[in-house]
Amino acid sequence: MKDFNFEVITLFPQAFELINNLGVITRALEKKLINVNLHNLRDYGIGRHRQVDDKPYGGGSGMVLKPEPIYNAYKSIKKCIKSKTLLMTPQGKVLKQKDLLRWSDLDQIIIICGQYEGFDERVRCLADEEISLGDYVLSGGEVPAMAIINGLTRLLPGTLGDQNSLIDESHNSSLLEYPHYTRPLIFRGMRVPDVLISGNHQEIKCWRYQQSLERTIERRKDLISEKNLLNFKEQKSYKKKSNNYNKFQNEGVYEDEDHIWM
Ligand code: SAH
Repeated sequence: MKDFNFEVITLFPQAFELINNLGVITRALEKKLINVNLHNLRDYGIGRHRQVDDKPYGGGSGMVLKPEPIYNAYKSIKKCIKSKTLLMTPQGKVLKQKDLLRWSDLDQIIIICGQYEGFDERVRCLADEEISLGDYVLSGGEVPAMAIINGLTRLLPGTLGDQNSLIDESHNSSLLEYPHYTRPLIFRGMRVPDVLISGNHQEIKCWRYQQSLERTIERRKDLISEKNLLNFKEQKSYKKKSNNYNKFQNEGVYEDEDHIWM
């Protein structure tokens, strides 16, 4: 099994200590399924003070990462044949599960983390793709980089105990995953649905699919294409029943109305 190489250019390599305590990801490191090589930007800083940032031309608040240290750190990395360079920026394309899947076929991902006000615009030339973790601004690219390392590692063969657990997972198809229950059978008056203890695998499969459908329509209708939505609505058996102990509350997303499609 080939290993996957993450090369991270960062001013805060210590932030990545977290991945040494992250269960599945830590095991992947131990099993040498992945390597995470940290390239400390400070080592490529300029002059006696190893300067990595400077004031922005034209004035304005904050400091900007200089281009030379990032370029030099980048040049020092031995490139694999199947390699991509990702720049962490809130101006990039929002990270999706399908991106992780697409990249899982590579041998190497080089991740450039910004800090402060960001990086000199000329750094963008290094990137194959600019990636955002979401529509909000963080203080640095380390958390987005860790999200990519984490999400991609669990897709690599040999990482998860049971690769089947990836199949039904939310965002793997266009549907969110169905609800899970474990023991006890009754918790604070909330009982596990009877179908799950019926032993009837066909019915369980059917129930899970319905739940996935309901859940996606309720929470993330945007994930389903118009065409698929119509197909779902046409399915005579589809009936939404509200489930009062896992109601999703998120202003503007969840419409608390009773859809019944018969
Ligand atoms: N002034 C910049 C934001 C700088 S935030 C702007 O308005 O675009 C500092 C650094 O944190 C960025 O360079 C980037 O590397 C990282 N960062 C912040 N938010 C991010 C997000 N949502 N996704 C990915 N990286 C992000």
